[in-house]
Amino acid sequence: MAGLMTARVLADLFERVTLIEKDALRDAPVSRSGTPQANHIHNLHEAGRQTLEDLFPGFSEALLAAGGNRIEINSDSRVFIEEGVLAHGPAQLPMYCASRPLFELVTRRRVEDIENVSLRDNCQFVDYLTEGTADVTGISIRQDGRTEDIRADLVVDATGRTSRTPDWLAEHDYPMPTVDEVHIDVAYSTAFVNRPTDVQQTCVVLPNPPRKRGGGMFPVENGRWMMTLFGVHGEHAPTEQAGFTDFAASLPISDFERVIDEHGLASETIEQYPFPSNRRVRYEEADRFPDGLLVIGDGIASFNPIYGQGMSVAALEAIQLHHTLAAGSSDDVAQRFFQRATTVVDDAWMLAVGSDFQFGQTTGPKPTGTDLINRYLSRLLRTARTDGRVADAFNRVIIMEERPTSLFRPSILWRVLTPGI
Ligand SMILES: Cc1cc2nc3c(=O)[nH]c(=O)nc-3n(C[C@H](O)[C@H](O)[C@H](O)COP(=O)(O)OP(=O)(O)OC[C@H]3O[C@@H](n4cnc5c(N)ncnc54)[C@H](O)[C@@H]3O)c2cc1C
Repeated sequence: MAGLMTARVLADLFERVTLIEKDALRDAPVSRSGTPQANHIHNLHEAGRQTLEDLFPGFSEALLAAGGNRIEINSDSRVFIEEGVLAHGPAQLPMYCASRPLFELVTRRRVEDIENVSLRDNCQFVDYLTEGTADVTGISIRQDGRTEDIRADLVVDATGRTSRTPDWLAEHDYPMPTVDEVHIDVAYSTAFVNRPTDVQQTCVVLPNPPRKRGGGMFPVENGRWMMTLFGVHGEHAPTEQAGFTDFAASLPISDFERVIDEHGLASETIEQYPFPSNRRVRYEEADRFPDGLLVIGDGIASFNPIYGQGMSVAALEAIQLHHTLAAGSSDDVAQRFFQRATTVVDDAWMLAVGSDFQFGQTTGPKPTGTDLINRYLSRLLRTARTDGRVADAFNRVIIMEERPTSLFRPSILWRVLTPGI
């Protein structure tokens, strides 16, 4: 997703853009080995959806026409957090639901329509090409057993969490960037459940110590719910049907068990994806970085997925890339882009990592003030069980329409800290 959105942004500013993808791509919403996470729930938050709409006008309609769903958080969803269900507030908070392969397909079709972008699939990035002081001047690729060099004014690494750029920098005498890793040991177990097509019901249970289990259930295409059950710090949901159903029944609200009971699992196999840690590469702090190279998306930061932030962060980073390049100067592009990307990543990191540190077993660098913020959030969420306006304020942060600091506005502080409002 980061690569597709980057290609769209670069197409405005460069004569030719080439997108390299190692998998074979089909004109169908199917999963593939390069994105194993695509078998699991992928929420596209409103900030990401609006950005995709800006980059690709008509994106949202195309998604719905291809089978996606638009739900209203305040009427269709139940969110269980801090041992209670969030109240429904007065705000209109839409959410577009689909499988990750469908989000990607709709985006890719739009990219394929851009005249100066070419997409080469079945084509493996092998190495960066360098010149002189090890600035990057292109890449070498392998396709059909042949190696080829592609020269470029700018190379953007959008290979995701397994990006090899940090190691490459170390091998080429650049300072190795600091990598922050916060261990949460979460695993997703995901199945489809049959869904009457007129039912849009959505449900989320977030873990809350000492309860390590949670889950999500969203209406996707083809009359299905995608249901993911997860647990942190080793409390993983089984991948056989009976164990999966028992895990669903162990959640603090009955919605998951009930829909399995009433409508039945549609999947024979249950996919699992282990996610050991939040991981952030601090490129913005590097003293030296090669000209001609940038990194975007999960290659900069990948977050505990239960807050569903990655695609939206990638979209907002793509906009920051546009602003960096549109400023005109070719000086310090990497430094300016990574600084801009930091403003996007910081908020998402604070939310994911901050909530992971509610668990004593979470290890890694803990942002200053985390415990104090968690105590305030805990109180806010208890208020949000009965106060729809506070619930709306929280949901606006989750869908990335507002920054986390908005939860400290006087109008919200007052409602949270004054008993009985
Ligand atoms: C279990 C799980 C659930 C998630 N749920 C959500 C969610 O609900 N909402 C959300 O917004 N985000 C979610 N995410 C995060 C989301 O998947 C990513 O943040 C998002 O896809 C952006 O990632 P990316 O494009 O940087 O990398 P990726 O999506 O990993 O894409 C990297 C691409 O690079 C290709 N590639 C890799 N190496 C090479 C190479 N050498 N040569 C050529 N091509 C190569 C891969 O094939 C792939 O297509 C989830 C992640 C996980 C693990």
